[in-house]
Amino acid sequence: MNEFELIRRYFQRPQLPSWCVLGIGDDAALIRPQPGEELLLCSDTLVAGRHFPVATDAEAIGWKSLAVNLSDLAAMGGQAQGFLLNLNLPEASADFLEPFARGLFALADQHGVALVGGDTTRGPLSISITAFGTVPHGQAIRRAGARVGDVIVAGGVVGAAALALHEGAAASPALRRALDYPQPQLALGQALRGLAHAAIDISDGLAADLSHLLQASGVGAKLHLDQLPLAPALRALEPPQARRLALGGGDDYVLCFTLPRAAYAALRAKFPDLPAPFGEITARRGLYAECPDGKLEPLSVPGYQHFE
Ligand code: ADP
Ligand code: MG
Repeated sequence: MNEFELIRRYFQRPQLPSWCVLGIGDDAALIRPQPGEELLLCSDTLVAGRHFPVATDAEAIGWKSLAVNLSDLAAMGGQAQGFLLNLNLPEASADFLEPFARGLFALADQHGVALVGGDTTRGPLSISITAFGTVPHGQAIRRAGARVGDVIVAGGVVGAAALALHEGAAASPALRRALDYPQPQLALGQALRGLAHAAIDISDGLAADLSHLLQASGVGAKLHLDQLPLAPALRALEPPQARRLALGGGDDYVLCFTLPRAAYAALRAKFPDLPAPFGEITARRGLYAECPDGKLEPLSVPGYQHFE
């Protein structure tokens, strides 16, 4: 199977959305932007052995490569539209490509997202996706914008993926799913437009990613550690270990955002499973935990960094 057969067999699909004038097959894709919309672009690479264990199912690799990108669009309040797929493959094997494409398109179809092009090369396994989406003019949600008094909310529970990595082969199927098949929170991100002052998605750990949001906004936060939205499997652990996984673990791909308390109530009416706020934005910079006696203690939980 040569490169072109491979693309035709696994990645070229008959239907294209109306905004896509040309998809796979020419030198570049041709997209017709809609008036009144702004374009969001993001890119994320997954390298075998670094972003996923080498033994990960190809189906999960396909899903997750796209999920991490759609999660970035969600964090900006975007509507996902399409993506480019850059594949670096050791060999053109159907054993890998068939399940990889199945996982990739399962998620793409869930959100009506089209593959419009890419590149295919031979080399150590890595997958790089560039995704794009739209947001109504001026309505993108940024990391900067959090205001003193805002409550801090996570879009779902955290720590399950970190626990799955920690437990390795012993992890339960439910934990494994949390690590391998993250669900990008696109509907939630769109609902945050006009409500949230700032948002980010949690890829490197709640504490690390929240800190990015705080720095961009020029504010700080105090957290109520007993209100962290822990994944169910973490509730059986000793509290310090559960907190370490929840704050420092990463790979959660849920949103973290700040908004006025009244806006939280309105949002919760639409998203009944939304966890309770676990902190507040403060004028004092830095990240603090509020102790039961009201004292603030500095929190330092390192997230994942490539060039540490
Ligand atoms: P060029 O040589 O002009 O860069 P390529 O031969 O790399 O073109 O690609 C041919 C067509 O196939 C292009 O439209 C490109 O976007 C598409 N393509 C290549 N690899 C992939 C892939 N992995 N997934 C989707 N489309 C791809
Ligand atoms: Mg090319």
